[in-house]
Amino acid sequence: MKQSLTFIPTLRETPADADVKSHQLLLRAGFIRQNTSGIYSFLPLGKRVLHKVETIVREEMDAINGVEVLMPAMQQAELWQETGRWYSYGPELMRLRDRHNREFALGATHEEVITSLLRDEIKSYKKLPLTLYQIQTKFRDEKRPRFGLLRGREFLMKDAYSFHATRESLDQTYEDMVRAYTNIFSRLGLNFRAVIADSGAIGGKDTHEFMVLSEIGEDTIAYSDESDFAANIEMAEVKVSYETPTEEIKEVQKVETPDQKTIEQVATFLNVEVQQCIKTLVFKVDEELVLVLSRGDHEVNDIKVKNVLQAKVVEFATEEEIQTILNCEVGSLGPVNLPDGVKVIADHAVAAIRNGICGANVAGFHLVNVNPERDFVVNQYEDLRFIMEGDPSPDGKGTILFAKGIEVGHVFKLGTTYSEPMNGTFLDNNGRSQPYIMGCYGIGISRVMAAVAEQFQDDKGFIWPSVVAPYDVHLVPVNMKDDAQVTLSDDLYKLLKTNRFDVLYDDRPERAGVKFADSDLIGLPIRITVGKKAVEGLVEVKIRKTGETFEWKNEEILDHLQ
Ligand code: ATP
Ligand code: MG
Ligand code: MG
Ligand code: MG
Repeated sequence: MKQSLTFIPTLRETPADADVKSHQLLLRAGFIRQNTSGIYSFLPLGKRVLHKVETIVREEMDAINGVEVLMPAMQQAELWQETGRWYSYGPELMRLRDRHNREFALGATHEEVITSLLRDEIKSYKKLPLTLYQIQTKFRDEKRPRFGLLRGREFLMKDAYSFHATRESLDQTYEDMVRAYTNIFSRLGLNFRAVIADSGAIGGKDTHEFMVLSEIGEDTIAYSDESDFAANIEMAEVKVSYETPTEEIKEVQKVETPDQKTIEQVATFLNVEVQQCIKTLVFKVDEELVLVLSRGDHEVNDIKVKNVLQAKVVEFATEEEIQTILNCEVGSLGPVNLPDGVKVIADHAVAAIRNGICGANVAGFHLVNVNPERDFVVNQYEDLRFIMEGDPSPDGKGTILFAKGIEVGHVFKLGTTYSEPMNGTFLDNNGRSQPYIMGCYGIGISRVMAAVAEQFQDDKGFIWPSVVAPYDVHLVPVNMKDDAQVTLSDDLYKLLKTNRFDVLYDDRPERAGVKFADSDLIGLPIRITVGKKAVEGLVEVKIRKTGETFEWKNEEILDHLQ
């Protein structure tokens, strides 16, 4: 592609509103532009990267017998009402009405659509298993769209759904998917971990997230330094399973205190919905406020969760106190800037409170029955939210470290969560009607692009790995007025193209400084500079990743590059 004919609007300055490296460079190097909050256009270079990511994903999906389809982004409300998600999904689901006043959602995910599609078509176990996938634009009205493509409101996702007659069959496909995802993220050169995860709004039980380790990640993962063990520390409450508390603790439990409050009481007290209350509870401890956080509170994620369970809970803070100190309205605790002295209680306290096994004990010195070692025994592996940095790994191998992660992929065993309410059934080999057993598997294609962009760059610009680079070679004649340079560049351009290299040919009549700065920003794997030595048939080849430069004869280039 001749650079004079394409559209690569590079910027010299870093845009003020871009807060992470990938976002800044994607804008500066002319890969994307923001239309409005969380909504982007992909410019020619960005589109090419996206396409390459998609190709890798398609290859790996096809390799495990996934079949590509394309479902509608616009989905009738009735489907979402069948599963109840129309009511439970919340404001993240973009909703609209047609001219007849019928309600629709813009697809945030496609479990309902695909289940409705298959229930009318697949009636026998003989047609199972089946794995369908699509690569499609998704819409989610994120509370805080940010970090460019990493958290958009309109973004590209690969979502796959599998249908099975038996649990074993689902287990098999799930394993295949984990392998395919591992291949995808390895091929992309990402530093990632598959982590045990929380099943969130989609529902279901067994689930793993694929996390790219990165300082700007919004999730915190606990992983072993010596084994594959890794978990998202924000595990859902539903995964908690407590063993009977020890005898000694039962004693403590019996000590009823008048101020012990249930979560409903707290909710009434704070005048908020229980749902919201579960998200963020506020207590007052020793004249200080203590926030009790549940999963999903990304805004406060970067504050290290402190184990302050020994704290003495004096009383619940009053609504006014909370509002004054946090400078925000209760019930919309939104982006919270924690003032000095406000501590954070580990979120397992919430789980414990919710499960009715503890309460704020006014008389005692600690919250009753929340400390796993001290108060009760936790089933190994079941409640991973208790893990702290430096703990022994639950699999007995190595020590736990914490890291920030960007969730790039997510695989779920859904079971019959969707097929049951939607009557998605087939006849099994005994002629009995059974709901499909399902799995679902997502990859944020545009988020992956940003995660790669975040990882592969230096202070000059991108260092695209060749598998996703928008072009393989940047061909840069220094002076377009020099006939020898232009002739040699034209020849090289043709030669490389006929040998299947993707070449970006900077044929613009710009100053050398501008061309080199743009070339560094764009960051293609190989740059061929055609300068003064063109008359001798010599060019300079620079490997972006290592910075190595070579002087090669024009006719040697193909041999070297292949
Ligand atoms: P997050 O926890 O970051 O909000 P999620 O758990 O809601 O993500 P899933 O429902 O698991 O997301 O969707 C599958 C994949 O889609 C995610 O693993 C992620 O890669 C991608 N994704 C989700 N939300 C966004 C978004 N707002 N912008 C870009 N990609 C996204
Ligand atoms: Mg989300
Ligand atoms: Mg998530
Ligand atoms: Mg997820």
